Amino acid sequence: MTSLEEERRNVPFECRGCWHVWEEEYLVRHFSDRHGNECLIWLCGGLPVLPPSPGAVICPRCGSQQATTFPDGYLARHPELIPPAHPPVPDDAPLRSPVKYPLFYERVT
Ligand SMILES: [Zn+2]
Repeated sequence: MTSLEEERRNVPFECRGCWHVWEEEYLVRHFSDRHGNECLIWLCGGLPVLPPSPGAVICPRCGSQQATTFPDGYLARHPELIPPAHPPVPDDAPLRSPVKYPLFYERVT
């Protein structure tokens, strides 16, 4: 006996190169094998792909592979992260990534 279930998931990513935030829509197929193990197949555009993870996606804006993912549902609670229609101003925008980045101090006053 196997069971098959499909689920649409929008997975948000953030580029660590240009801070672009975007979402990819995946179709996730859940099924259980005969031993009761749950298996997942990730499909994107109808093709099987690697599960979304840092390094598995390419930034659509700058082509960087240094993209990070957000926790599930993170963007729903932080709609301000979804890029507005106008171009962002990278230097003025505070970093709102949930990922902790090292702080760099160029000079100490
Ligand atoms: Zn980028």
